[in-house]
Amino acid sequence: MSWSTSQGGSPVTWFDPGRGLLPVLWSPPDGLAFRHRTSVRPRGRPDSKEPTLFDVVIKGGTVVDGTGGDSYSADVGICDGRIVDIGKLSGPAAQTVDADGALVTPGWVDVHTHYDGQATWDDALEPSASNGVTTLVMGNCGVGFAPVRPGDHDALIDLMEGVEDIPGSALSAGMPWGSWETFGEYLDLLDQRSYAVDIAAQIAHGAVRFYVMGERGAANEDATDEDIAAMSSIIAEAMASGAVGFSTSRTIGHKAKSGRPVPGTFAPDEELLAFAGALRSAGHGVFEAIVAGTIGSLERLGGERAKPIDELPLLEAVAHASGRPVTFTVAQLFEDPDHWRAVLDAAARANLNGAVLRPQVIPRSVTIMTSLDTYHLFMGRPTYQKIADLPLAERVAEMRRPEVRRAILGESSAADGVNDFSTLIVELFGLALPLTFRLCDPVDYEPRLDESVYAQAVAAGVDPFEYMFDLLLADEGTAFYALLGSNFVNGTLDVCREMLLDPNTVTGLGDAGAHVNLISDCSASTFHLTHWARDRSQGERLPLELLVHKLSEANAELYGFGDRGAVSLGKRADLNVIDFEGLRIRPPELRYDLPTGVSRILQPAEGYLATLVHGEVTRRFDADTGRRSGRLVRGAPAA
Ligand SMILES: [Zn+2]
Repeated sequence: MSWSTSQGGSPVTWFDPGRGLLPVLWSPPDGLAFRHRTSVRPRGRPDSKEPTLFDVVIKGGTVVDGTGGDSYSADVGICDGRIVDIGKLSGPAAQTVDADGALVTPGWVDVHTHYDGQATWDDALEPSASNGVTTLVMGNCGVGFAPVRPGDHDALIDLMEGVEDIPGSALSAGMPWGSWETFGEYLDLLDQRSYAVDIAAQIAHGAVRFYVMGERGAANEDATDEDIAAMSSIIAEAMASGAVGFSTSRTIGHKAKSGRPVPGTFAPDEELLAFAGALRSAGHGVFEAIVAGTIGSLERLGGERAKPIDELPLLEAVAHASGRPVTFTVAQLFEDPDHWRAVLDAAARANLNGAVLRPQVIPRSVTIMTSLDTYHLFMGRPTYQKIADLPLAERVAEMRRPEVRRAILGESSAADGVNDFSTLIVELFGLALPLTFRLCDPVDYEPRLDESVYAQAVAAGVDPFEYMFDLLLADEGTAFYALLGSNFVNGTLDVCREMLLDPNTVTGLGDAGAHVNLISDCSASTFHLTHWARDRSQGERLPLELLVHKLSEANAELYGFGDRGAVSLGKRADLNVIDFEGLRIRPPELRYDLPTGVSRILQPAEGYLATLVHGEVTRRFDADTGRRSGRLVRGAPAA
């Protein structure tokens, strides 16, 4: 029993860091201070006369607490959505979650998502909820939906569809357009809803610039002093209303569907430094950027104006001007496979000089998916275009006919058959067959290069394009393959290991809610554990405690979410109970469940025995319990 004493009417729990909770059955001797004092009150259960101490007890698990410290065995007691006791607990509980043989970790904090649209119509927030995420941050990469003038929403949809590949028809039909104009009104709308996970939103440069500058902003014309002042005050207002940061895109690889780079892509330093000043006045929030060159030099699109390393002085200046953390995406590039190292080194130097730069990395390759019902190598070929709208089974039957197969394989893509983006993707699929792999069950994200489509075609003496054609027809056309690009350039994920070990990096970049028919990297959160702590055979692994820390406390700290991210007394009971041995990532599946029946790739994980959000069990045995204890989290200066 750890609650039976009473000090001035309120029971006391005494925390000893080396040994967990000591049972306190007496008044402490004079001079012996309490390290922690909880506010646990015995309470009556409605259906029983017996008092319950805890709403939930998680019993018998191995706690990996998120701080990076050693794991230990303990029960976790929860009351009113908070962790109130840790140790050997015997007090009565309204609900007990058996964690015997399982890990008990903080819920994951995913700082890089794009649910800005989905959060207005959906409360399940898949695929994040099923991958152990309990808090997510949206509004990344300079794209978002507020502020917006009445009737102007098509431009922002065009932007989100182009940059993040979220189908415009779903955004158009699914979002309650007209219900907000300012960022604060957008937050108020989200605040009326409840979710399977907590959500937080950043204000996006693209939306702000279009709101203030209209067509001039969309065309990326220079902002006048008045424009910059107006944008700064909108950002300040958004921060005051609870935005958790500001985001911007500086890569020409991120374009609206109409082909124009995100408003703000070419913003001069003065513009971004002015916004940094708005963050400084707000006293909270993160500056997030996807910098020029992040996805390569993009010669095919006219060429980036800078490499990521060239952007570091600006990011450092923003960090100093704002006094806030700056986070930005970093991945290994094909054309310059060691560039990321120079970027991490420069960030480390800047941090020694008082900046807070947090390069954002992903623990595996950015996984670009291909299948017959999404994007694939043959989608632009004229004969395929004729059958493209047939239901999958009929399309597969057609493609199996020798004359159709021969015709498609003999053609090249029709320039007008598909849009620009698709043309580039098709080109990429053709070039990348040596790094394209079948996604088996469970998915192997660090395969041997001789397992690639190209290597297997060569071994079989078959033309690689023909080989890929037949592979797409496997499993009646439902099979998925993945192009493992950045971070897997050398056929190993060793670079990710180095990135994760870097004390300045945060992990994220799963882009959940975005690229719904192309990338499914939300499962990267689960992958930290399955691959890096358990399965990796191609090289060294990483300590479980470090990975859990990166997924929870480190990300929570970045965004100032001081009430969560660790299994410790007083923190929010946002928790995962994980069958570590059984944890695995299933192959992707296509579902047609976005508004208007638009498809998206989902990739379920297995092994999350329970996920708790604010003390409520939102998932049990990998299934949604229907509980919606997640809410909007508003940013505010630290008290
Ligand atoms: Zn993004």
